[in-house]
Amino acid sequence: MKEFAYKKSLGQNFLKDKSVINKIIDSADITVDSLILEIGPGSGALTKELVKTKGKVVAFEIDERLKEELSKIESNNLEVIYGDFLKIDLKEVLNKYNYKKLHLIANLPYYITTPIIMKIINETKIDEMIIMVQKEVGSRFKAKPNTKEYNSLSVFLQYYFDIKTVTIVNKNSFVPKPKVDSIVVRFSKKYNKIKANNEKVFFKLVKDSFTFKRKNLKNNLKGYDLNKINIILNKFNKDLTFRAESLSLEEFIEISNNI
Ligand code: SAM
Repeated sequence: MKEFAYKKSLGQNFLKDKSVINKIIDSADITVDSLILEIGPGSGALTKELVKTKGKVVAFEIDERLKEELSKIESNNLEVIYGDFLKIDLKEVLNKYNYKKLHLIANLPYYITTPIIMKIINETKIDEMIIMVQKEVGSRFKAKPNTKEYNSLSVFLQYYFDIKTVTIVNKNSFVPKPKVDSIVVRFSKKYNKIKANNEKVFFKLVKDSFTFKRKNLKNNLKGYDLNKINIILNKFNKDLTFRAESLSLEEFIEISNNI
Protein backbone atom coordinates (compact mmCIF):
# COMPACT_ATOMS: atom_id res chain seq x y z
CA MET A 1 0.00 0.00 0.00
CA LYS A 2 1.54 3.29 -1.14
CA GLU A 3 1.73 6.53 0.85
CA PHE A 4 -0.95 5.86 3.39
CA ALA A 5 -1.23 8.50 6.12
CA TYR A 6 -1.46 6.27 9.20
CA LYS A 7 -3.70 7.60 11.95
CA LYS A 8 -2.18 7.14 15.40
CA SER A 9 -5.55 8.04 16.94
CA LEU A 10 -7.04 4.90 15.33
CA GLY A 11 -4.23 2.64 16.53
CA GLN A 12 -3.03 2.10 12.96
CA ASN A 13 0.09 -0.04 13.24
CA PHE A 14 -0.05 -2.56 10.44
CA LEU A 15 1.57 -5.95 10.73
CA LYS A 16 4.28 -6.66 8.19
CA ASP A 17 5.71 -9.91 9.61
CA LYS A 18 4.26 -12.88 7.72
CA SER A 19 5.53 -15.38 10.32
CA VAL A 20 3.35 -13.75 13.01
CA ILE A 21 0.32 -14.00 10.72
CA ASN A 22 1.07 -17.70 10.16
CA LYS A 23 1.32 -18.31 13.92
CA ILE A 24 -2.05 -16.61 14.47
CA ILE A 25 -3.74 -18.73 11.79
CA ASP A 26 -2.07 -21.95 12.97
CA SER A 27 -3.21 -21.44 16.55
CA ALA A 28 -6.88 -21.07 15.52
CA ASP A 29 -9.25 -24.00 15.66
CA ILE A 30 -11.27 -23.19 12.53
CA THR A 31 -13.80 -25.58 10.97
CA VAL A 32 -16.29 -25.35 8.08
CA ASP A 33 -18.84 -24.19 10.68
CA SER A 34 -16.74 -21.28 11.85
CA LEU A 35 -17.60 -17.60 11.66
CA ILE A 36 -14.58 -15.36 12.19
CA LEU A 37 -14.89 -11.76 13.31
CA GLU A 38 -11.94 -9.50 12.57
CA ILE A 39 -11.87 -6.02 14.06
CA GLY A 40 -9.63 -3.56 12.26
CA PRO A 41 -8.50 -5.39 9.11
CA GLY A 42 -6.40 -2.36 8.08
CA SER A 43 -4.88 -3.08 4.69
CA GLY A 44 -5.84 -6.75 5.03
CA ALA A 45 -2.56 -8.46 6.02
CA LEU A 46 -4.39 -10.91 8.31
CA THR A 47 -7.70 -10.85 6.41
CA LYS A 48 -6.05 -12.24 3.26
CA GLU A 49 -5.00 -15.34 5.19
CA LEU A 50 -8.23 -15.67 7.18
CA VAL A 51 -10.29 -15.96 3.98
CA LYS A 52 -8.14 -18.93 2.91
CA THR A 53 -9.28 -20.93 5.97
CA LYS A 54 -12.47 -23.02 6.09
CA GLY A 55 -14.42 -20.32 7.93
CA LYS A 56 -16.41 -17.28 6.85
CA VAL A 57 -14.99 -13.87 7.72
CA VAL A 58 -16.72 -10.66 8.76
CA ALA A 59 -14.33 -7.73 9.19
CA PHE A 60 -15.16 -4.35 10.76
CA GLU A 61 -13.07 -1.34 9.74
CA ILE A 62 -13.68 2.24 10.88
CA ASP A 63 -11.45 3.91 8.27
CA GLU A 64 -13.10 4.11 4.85
CA ARG A 65 -9.78 5.13 3.25
CA LEU A 66 -8.93 1.41 3.43
CA LYS A 67 -11.89 0.44 1.22
CA GLU A 68 -9.87 0.49 -1.98
CA GLU A 69 -7.18 -1.81 -0.58
CA LEU A 70 -9.62 -4.18 1.17
CA SER A 71 -11.84 -4.48 -1.91
CA LYS A 72 -8.89 -6.08 -3.72
CA ILE A 73 -9.30 -9.21 -1.57
CA GLU A 74 -11.18 -11.61 -3.79
CA SER A 75 -13.24 -14.01 -1.75
CA ASN A 76 -16.85 -15.13 -1.43
CA ASN A 77 -16.11 -15.78 2.21
CA LEU A 78 -15.61 -12.16 3.22
CA GLU A 79 -17.90 -9.32 4.27
CA VAL A 80 -16.31 -6.00 5.27
CA ILE A 81 -18.46 -3.65 7.33
CA TYR A 82 -17.28 -0.03 7.57
CA GLY A 83 -17.96 1.76 10.85
CA ASP A 84 -17.04 1.93 14.50
CA PHE A 85 -17.18 -1.65 15.82
CA LEU A 86 -18.22 -0.42 19.27
CA LYS A 87 -21.39 1.09 17.76
CA ILE A 88 -22.27 -1.86 15.51
CA ASP A 89 -25.44 -3.85 16.18
CA LEU A 90 -23.56 -7.13 16.43
CA LYS A 91 -26.62 -9.33 16.97
CA GLU A 92 -28.09 -8.09 13.70
CA VAL A 93 -24.86 -8.92 11.85
CA LEU A 94 -24.56 -12.39 13.43
CA ASN A 95 -28.19 -13.23 12.65
CA LYS A 96 -27.37 -13.18 8.94
CA TYR A 97 -24.97 -16.11 9.31
CA ASN A 98 -25.24 -19.83 9.98
CA TYR A 99 -22.38 -21.02 12.11
CA LYS A 100 -21.58 -23.28 15.03
CA LYS A 101 -18.32 -21.76 16.24
CA LEU A 102 -17.62 -18.06 16.68
CA HIS A 103 -14.07 -16.66 16.66
CA LEU A 104 -12.53 -13.25 17.13
CA ILE A 105 -9.20 -13.18 15.33
CA ALA A 106 -7.64 -9.74 15.15
CA ASN A 107 -4.73 -7.42 15.58
CA LEU A 108 -6.75 -5.03 17.71
CA PRO A 109 -6.70 -1.22 17.81
CA TYR A 110 -5.03 -0.96 21.25
CA TYR A 111 -6.83 2.17 22.44
CA ILE A 112 -10.10 0.18 22.72
CA THR A 113 -8.83 -3.31 23.58
CA THR A 114 -10.96 -3.80 26.72
CA PRO A 115 -14.21 -2.28 25.33
CA ILE A 116 -13.93 -4.59 22.28
CA ILE A 117 -13.44 -7.69 24.46
CA MET A 118 -16.34 -6.66 26.74
CA LYS A 119 -18.66 -6.12 23.75
CA ILE A 120 -17.76 -9.53 22.34
CA ILE A 121 -18.31 -11.29 25.69
CA ASN A 122 -21.55 -9.43 26.46
CA GLU A 123 -23.16 -9.61 23.02
CA THR A 124 -22.06 -12.99 21.63
CA LYS A 125 -21.38 -16.58 22.60
CA ILE A 126 -17.77 -16.42 21.53
CA ASP A 127 -15.85 -19.72 21.45
CA GLU A 128 -12.32 -18.57 20.71
CA MET A 129 -10.43 -15.28 20.62
CA ILE A 130 -6.96 -14.93 19.17
CA ILE A 131 -5.96 -11.33 19.59
CA MET A 132 -2.87 -9.20 19.34
CA VAL A 133 -2.71 -6.72 22.19
CA GLN A 134 -0.10 -4.58 23.94
CA LYS A 135 2.32 -6.89 25.78
CA GLU A 136 1.60 -5.55 29.29
CA VAL A 137 -2.14 -5.80 28.71
CA GLY A 138 -1.85 -9.42 27.58
CA SER A 139 0.20 -10.23 30.68
CA ARG A 140 -2.66 -8.93 32.84
CA PHE A 141 -5.24 -11.02 31.00
CA LYS A 142 -3.43 -14.27 31.76
CA ALA A 143 -1.85 -13.30 35.11
CA LYS A 144 -1.89 -15.77 37.99
CA PRO A 145 -2.44 -14.94 41.70
CA ASN A 146 0.42 -13.35 43.66
CA THR A 147 1.82 -11.52 40.65
CA LYS A 148 1.73 -7.76 40.17
CA GLU A 149 -0.23 -8.13 36.92
CA TYR A 150 -3.13 -10.05 38.53
CA ASN A 151 -6.28 -7.90 38.80
CA SER A 152 -10.07 -8.09 38.64
CA LEU A 153 -9.98 -8.28 34.81
CA SER A 154 -7.67 -11.34 35.02
CA VAL A 155 -10.22 -13.10 37.26
CA PHE A 156 -13.18 -12.04 35.10
CA LEU A 157 -11.55 -13.26 31.85
CA GLN A 158 -10.18 -16.48 33.34
CA TYR A 159 -13.67 -17.29 34.63
CA TYR A 160 -14.76 -17.68 31.00
CA PHE A 161 -11.57 -18.67 29.18
CA ASP A 162 -8.29 -20.55 29.30
CA ILE A 163 -5.75 -17.96 28.19
CA LYS A 164 -2.40 -18.83 26.62
CA THR A 165 0.39 -16.95 24.85
CA VAL A 166 0.67 -17.68 21.13
CA THR A 167 3.72 -15.47 20.52
CA ILE A 168 5.45 -12.29 21.62
CA VAL A 169 5.74 -9.75 18.80
CA ASN A 170 8.57 -7.24 18.56
CA LYS A 171 7.65 -3.63 17.73
CA ASN A 172 9.76 -3.89 14.56
CA SER A 173 7.09 -6.19 13.09
CA PHE A 174 4.77 -3.21 12.43
CA VAL A 175 4.56 -0.17 10.16
CA PRO A 176 4.69 2.41 11.59
CA LYS A 177 6.74 1.04 14.51
CA PRO A 178 4.81 1.44 17.80
CA LYS A 179 6.44 2.35 21.14
CA VAL A 180 5.62 -0.96 22.81
CA ASP A 181 5.99 -4.68 22.10
CA SER A 182 2.92 -6.81 21.53
CA ILE A 183 1.66 -10.27 22.36
CA VAL A 184 -0.77 -12.63 20.65
CA VAL A 185 -2.99 -14.38 23.20
CA ARG A 186 -5.46 -17.17 22.64
CA PHE A 187 -8.64 -17.37 24.71
CA SER A 188 -10.48 -20.67 24.52
CA LYS A 189 -13.87 -20.93 26.13
CA LYS A 190 -14.13 -23.08 29.28
CA TYR A 191 -17.12 -25.26 28.43
CA ASN A 192 -17.07 -27.07 31.79
CA LYS A 193 -16.15 -24.20 34.00
CA ILE A 194 -16.79 -24.10 37.75
CA LYS A 195 -19.78 -21.78 37.83
CA ALA A 196 -20.59 -19.09 40.32
CA ASN A 197 -24.17 -19.56 41.59
CA ASN A 198 -24.84 -15.90 41.01
CA GLU A 199 -22.50 -14.26 38.50
CA LYS A 200 -23.55 -10.73 39.44
CA VAL A 201 -22.57 -11.35 43.07
CA PHE A 202 -19.32 -13.02 41.97
CA PHE A 203 -18.24 -10.20 39.65
CA LYS A 204 -19.12 -7.54 42.25
CA LEU A 205 -17.14 -9.40 44.93
CA VAL A 206 -14.09 -9.62 42.66
CA LYS A 207 -14.31 -5.94 41.69
CA ASP A 208 -14.79 -4.79 45.30
CA SER A 209 -11.92 -6.99 46.55
CA PHE A 210 -9.49 -5.26 44.17
CA THR A 211 -10.79 -1.68 44.79
CA PHE A 212 -7.56 -0.55 46.45
CA LYS A 213 -4.72 -2.79 45.36
CA ARG A 214 -2.58 -2.20 48.46
CA LYS A 215 -5.42 -2.69 50.95
CA ASN A 216 -6.38 -6.05 52.41
CA LEU A 217 -9.73 -7.83 52.05
CA LYS A 218 -10.99 -6.52 55.40
CA ASN A 219 -10.63 -2.93 54.19
CA ASN A 220 -11.89 -3.47 50.64
CA LEU A 221 -14.95 -5.52 51.66
CA LYS A 222 -16.36 -3.25 54.37
CA GLY A 223 -20.04 -3.62 53.43
CA TYR A 224 -19.90 -7.46 53.43
CA ASP A 225 -20.49 -10.05 56.19
CA LEU A 226 -16.81 -10.26 57.12
CA ASN A 227 -17.27 -13.09 59.66
CA LYS A 228 -18.75 -15.31 56.99
CA ILE A 229 -16.00 -14.46 54.52
CA ASN A 230 -13.35 -15.11 57.16
CA ILE A 231 -14.71 -18.61 57.82
CA ILE A 232 -14.51 -19.44 54.10
CA LEU A 233 -11.01 -17.97 53.84
CA ASN A 234 -9.87 -20.11 56.78
CA LYS A 235 -10.71 -23.22 54.72
CA PHE A 236 -7.93 -22.11 52.38
CA ASN A 237 -5.56 -21.21 55.24
CA LYS A 238 -6.20 -17.53 54.55
CA ASP A 239 -7.92 -14.69 56.40
CA LEU A 240 -9.12 -11.09 55.97
CA THR A 241 -5.58 -9.69 56.25
CA PHE A 242 -4.79 -11.20 52.84
CA ARG A 243 -5.02 -9.06 49.71
CA ALA A 244 -7.24 -9.84 46.72
CA GLU A 245 -4.15 -10.60 44.64
CA SER A 246 -3.56 -13.75 46.71
CA LEU A 247 -6.98 -15.30 45.99
CA SER A 248 -7.47 -17.76 43.15
CA LEU A 249 -10.47 -17.81 40.81
CA GLU A 250 -11.80 -20.91 42.64
CA GLU A 251 -11.51 -19.16 46.01
CA PHE A 252 -13.43 -16.11 44.77
CA ILE A 253 -16.16 -18.43 43.44
CA GLU A 254 -16.33 -20.32 46.75
CA ILE A 255 -16.71 -17.06 48.71
CA SER A 256 -19.35 -15.65 46.35
CA ASN A 257 -21.34 -18.91 46.54
CA ASN A 258 -21.50 -18.67 50.33
CA ILE A 259 -22.32 -15.04 51.07
N1 SAM B 1 -5.26 -5.95 10.98
C1 SAM B 1 -4.32 -4.97 10.45
C2 SAM B 1 -2.93 -5.53 10.54
O1 SAM B 1 -2.72 -6.45 11.33
O2 SAM B 1 -2.06 -5.05 9.83
C3 SAM B 1 -4.44 -3.61 11.13
C4 SAM B 1 -4.40 -3.59 12.63
S1 SAM B 1 -4.29 -1.99 13.34
C5 SAM B 1 -3.45 -2.39 14.83
C6 SAM B 1 -5.92 -1.63 13.95
C7 SAM B 1 -6.99 -1.36 12.91
O3 SAM B 1 -8.23 -1.09 13.61
C8 SAM B 1 -6.78 -0.17 12.00
O4 SAM B 1 -7.01 -0.55 10.67
C9 SAM B 1 -7.84 0.87 12.44
O5 SAM B 1 -8.28 1.73 11.40
C10 SAM B 1 -8.94 -0.04 12.94
N2 SAM B 1 -9.85 0.57 13.93
C11 SAM B 1 -9.56 1.50 14.87
N3 SAM B 1 -10.64 1.80 15.61
C12 SAM B 1 -11.66 1.01 15.14
C13 SAM B 1 -13.04 0.87 15.49
N4 SAM B 1 -13.59 1.58 16.51
N5 SAM B 1 -13.81 -0.01 14.80
C14 SAM B 1 -13.26 -0.73 13.76
N6 SAM B 1 -11.96 -0.63 13.40
C15 SAM B 1 -11.17 0.23 14.08
